[in-house]
Amino acid sequence: MSKITIAIDGFSSTGKSTLAKQLAKELNYVYVDTGAMYRAITLFAMRNNFIGSGEERLEDLVKLLPRIKLKFVPNPKLGFAEMYLNDENVEKQIRTMQVSKYVSRIAELEQVRYMLVEMQKTMGKEKGIVMDGRDIGTVVFPDAELKIFMTASPQARATRRYKELLDRGEEVSYEDVLENVQKRDFIDSHREFSPLRKADNAIEFDNSDMGLKEQFERLLSIADRCIEKV
Ligand code: C5P
Repeated sequence: MSKITIAIDGFSSTGKSTLAKQLAKELNYVYVDTGAMYRAITLFAMRNNFIGSGEERLEDLVKLLPRIKLKFVPNPKLGFAEMYLNDENVEKQIRTMQVSKYVSRIAELEQVRYMLVEMQKTMGKEKGIVMDGRDIGTVVFPDAELKIFMTASPQARATRRYKELLDRGEEVSYEDVLENVQKRDFIDSHREFSPLRKADNAIEFDNSDMGLKEQFERLLSIADRCIEKV
């Protein structure tokens, strides 16, 4: 059976990664979480005081981009690949609220986008991939056979994200999480380079009132139909 490319875009904390991961596993496809790549660059920028410590020095970050090595390394125990920044596993560090606070600012930079989009295109050359992010159906794989655009109310998304952060032991308030989700949506949708928008031929998927099982079953049946047609 021919393999296809599945692009999943949408607003922050719509559960894209969870669903994309499940779908990739079921189809035996590769899963790529592009948000992790933008988060890893942000962590690098924070550690080097290019952002988050008063004055922003983003031109210095841009100069160092060629020295940043990003890699996804499969973790068989967890059943998914983890993000490595210059050979260090940063999977936990990139998921904190601090990184969420600055990531959309870093993701606005043209040079960062150029570098990561090139890497993402290479990863998807062989098809058989589920990639999630903000510009996958519009910029990275405009010819993807299946494009999904996920939405949910800001409150539903903030509630999910809040629970996730609490489970990881982070002390956050629901209000801060809601504010972060809304702020990121705004920056991501209004930036100059590849802003978040629904691709013309993407299927809109509002999961505000849908459980995980229902979402997965619906998405799998959409994907199966699409694969049959290829
Ligand atoms: O998906 P996740 O919430 O981890 O993404 C973190 C941030 O990375 C987004 O809010 C957005 O600013 C940026 N991003 C992006 N393009 C992508 C994936 C993520 O700009 N393809």
